[in-house]
Amino acid sequence: MARSPCRFCKSLSLHTFVDLGMSPLCESFLAADQLNQMEPFYPLHVYVCENCLLVQLQEYVRPEDIFTEYAYFSSYSDTWLRHSKDYADMVVERFNLGLHSRVVELASNDGYLLQYFVQKGIPVLGIEPAANVAETAISKGVTTVVKFFGSKTAHEVAGASGKADLIIGNNVLAQVPDLNDFVAGMQILLKPDGIITMEFPHLMSLMESNQFDTIYHEHFSYFSFAVVERVFAAHALTLFDVEKLSTHGGSLRIYACHTEDAGKQVTTRVKVLKAAEEAAGVLRIDTYFSFAKKVEETKHKLLEFLIEAKREGKSIAGYGAPGKGNTLLNYCGVRTDFIDYTVDRNPYKHGKYTPGTHIPIFHPNKISETKPDYVFILPWNLKDEIMKQLAYINEWGGRFVIPIPEPKICS
Ligand SMILES: [Zn+2]
Repeated sequence: MARSPCRFCKSLSLHTFVDLGMSPLCESFLAADQLNQMEPFYPLHVYVCENCLLVQLQEYVRPEDIFTEYAYFSSYSDTWLRHSKDYADMVVERFNLGLHSRVVELASNDGYLLQYFVQKGIPVLGIEPAANVAETAISKGVTTVVKFFGSKTAHEVAGASGKADLIIGNNVLAQVPDLNDFVAGMQILLKPDGIITMEFPHLMSLMESNQFDTIYHEHFSYFSFAVVERVFAAHALTLFDVEKLSTHGGSLRIYACHTEDAGKQVTTRVKVLKAAEEAAGVLRIDTYFSFAKKVEETKHKLLEFLIEAKREGKSIAGYGAPGKGNTLLNYCGVRTDFIDYTVDRNPYKHGKYTPGTHIPIFHPNKISETKPDYVFILPWNLKDEIMKQLAYINEWGGRFVIPIPEPKICS
């Protein structure tokens, strides 16, 4: 039973979307001396609101417990850095940003994106709640304040250094527990003719491609365009353009402005996407009731593959230790009985263990040392980049395993 009202509309009519059981926080990697200690697990039970159709987790965990020290450094992915640079070039040109503009990024992480605006001489401010990643940003010359964002922070920042021409929020909207206060904050901080762009995984892709592993405690909400439009409209903001992106298995980049700003036309892309969502059943609650079955089926198939591989005496190594990997491993009950170890480019994770499943994490060199039969790619959204980097596993007949949308072997 859902105990809290809907995060957006406060309705109490919430229905199960999918229940992934109990899971630890997916970024809470363990040191060796923590392996024999008790580990907190929280429900990973997702609901859909009958009234507004927002798909959401309850706030099982306080955001302070998740985001104040964060193991995710955006700069460890080449694909993501290229994506960020392309975005900066595009947005500066399209909206004529220059030396007198002001760019604010919410959840600016390690400065992976704002650095490209700094290079162009455009004044920036990052707002980031995790002190450890914010420090990295500051050392790169990206001005950053360590804070959670909401209407209070918006007033403080606007008062101290003025409003923004561009507010950016990439992969943060889903991670906001107080959604209304967060969107209200953007409305406060935005100049009358300013714009907001935000990227977030598209719920339609999550459902169509069975990306249940993108569900984790850090992600409180899962958005369709229709629902985001409704949330922004409630705070006097209008979505005037949208792009579909391939990042994170299918994301949206929305463009918003003040509803009062008459200078921006709603594009055809908005109309096309809204029609596509309607055709896919995004506006009908019964569409949401078929997802759980598909997720169970994927678990069965993945375990079938893993059991068969182990019976044949094959060795399996993981690649990556992303948040989504931890949902998958915990939900499917995959531990070192199937996967000997995993590797990650982020040195912060080396020598640590995956939460809940206790799979050791090493430097990527471990793969060429042990020559596993299969490399199980956990961040499947980066599979092209990873398969290129690890093409050398062909030398010993190694093959790749991709778990989502359904388990598949690639060589
Ligand atoms: Zn609702």
